[in-house]
Amino acid sequence: MLRKIPTLALALFSGLLIQQTNAQTDQRIYDIIENVSADSIEANIRKLAGFGTRNTFSDTVSDTRGIGAARRWIKSEFDYLSKNCDNCLDVFYQKDFVTTADGDRIPHDAWVVNVVAVQKGTKYPNRYIIMSGDIDSRASNTMDFKTDAPGANDNASGMAGTMEAARVLSQYEFENSIVYVGLSGEEQGLFGGKGLAQYAKANNWEIIGVLNNDMIGNIEGVDGVIDNRTFRIFSESVPPNETDRERNRRRFYGGEVDGISRQLARYVHTTTETYMPEMNPMMIYRLDRFGRGGHHRPFNDLGFAGIRIMEAHENYNRQHQDIRTENGIEYGDVVAGVNFDYAKKLTAVNAINMASLAWAPPAPKNVEIGGIVEPSATLRWDKVEGEIAGYKIYWRETTEAQWQYSRFVGNVNEFTLDGIVIDNYFFGVASVGKDGHESVVVFPSGVFR
Ligand SMILES: [Zn+2]
Repeated sequence: MLRKIPTLALALFSGLLIQQTNAQTDQRIYDIIENVSADSIEANIRKLAGFGTRNTFSDTVSDTRGIGAARRWIKSEFDYLSKNCDNCLDVFYQKDFVTTADGDRIPHDAWVVNVVAVQKGTKYPNRYIIMSGDIDSRASNTMDFKTDAPGANDNASGMAGTMEAARVLSQYEFENSIVYVGLSGEEQGLFGGKGLAQYAKANNWEIIGVLNNDMIGNIEGVDGVIDNRTFRIFSESVPPNETDRERNRRRFYGGEVDGISRQLARYVHTTTETYMPEMNPMMIYRLDRFGRGGHHRPFNDLGFAGIRIMEAHENYNRQHQDIRTENGIEYGDVVAGVNFDYAKKLTAVNAINMASLAWAPPAPKNVEIGGIVEPSATLRWDKVEGEIAGYKIYWRETTEAQWQYSRFVGNVNEFTLDGIVIDNYFFGVASVGKDGHESVVVFPSGVFR
């Protein structure tokens, strides 16, 4: 028997649907920002710094000192979070053995052990958005695995933020999977990132993107600048493993500043401006700091999108330094140098971007563009599987850093922008979910006439 639905309820219900579909913002994202706790991040940073040193080659037997104790504690915390979400996290160690032959900063053979927590998506379990921090720390001499190296900002801050994001986001269900990971071996050659990137590739993970957090807690630059709102998003222009054909295409069709990592960086920038307008994200058009490295790079090396999120004003007296006072200057990466409220803000930046991406449909594939010698531009793409709201075309002037214009075009696989001359803009297409969350924008990879 069919129950008659009261007209008013029906009207309210359909009103709600319309509201959700057209929503420009999602209240759940504001809730996530609210739930990230500076106290919780502080507690995690103090605990991690308290292991004395977390050098990758330090003690693995002690329960109180060294990287072994640190990673066991991180795993136990992830296990605890999982108990509080009906076992929603799959927690495991992912490890690779490195020997002194693998680099010149390896004092002895050892296991490089990452701690991984996977929150499986309900609809697209094999699509992963990854947030990483680092377990390991270092003293002035990176080969010295005995001296105290609290690494409170570098990189207990990123690790603590990752754990806090897991605490907050594990209270929600997502369509795509989220990975929270503590990586090791960063300071001696990005070994942990290499290991997990290879693991992901071997297991055919479809990676939406890697948000690598390395130093997200210092607001006081070595030059005296104090700034608790600005942060940097590093992204490389194009993947390093692109083919000669792809490189050659760029000469004629563009894309020099539109690689997959750059699109991810733009996504983070835009989401931050939408939901946390008090923050000041800086897009940095480089892989990483000048001549320096981070754990997103091994993922980039394999062709995955990955960016580095970090503070804007580094304090070199507080990184990679033995704790000491010299000529009146205090050196060392101690807890006192970390601003927990700032680490909370950057953790929230990560959390809201992971939530948006994990609630969004997959990006359209095989995006192509046409419009040579025409006063219009046409985009075509393969529709994604499953029910989604539709697609949004983005474009911008060729000298602009961010997408300037957009048009929601409905659930179609081709659209012509009349009066928009292809030569004068760059274009891209994103998928839009029913609750308004969007995929990363895809730059066209093909051309038609
Ligand atoms: Zn470092």
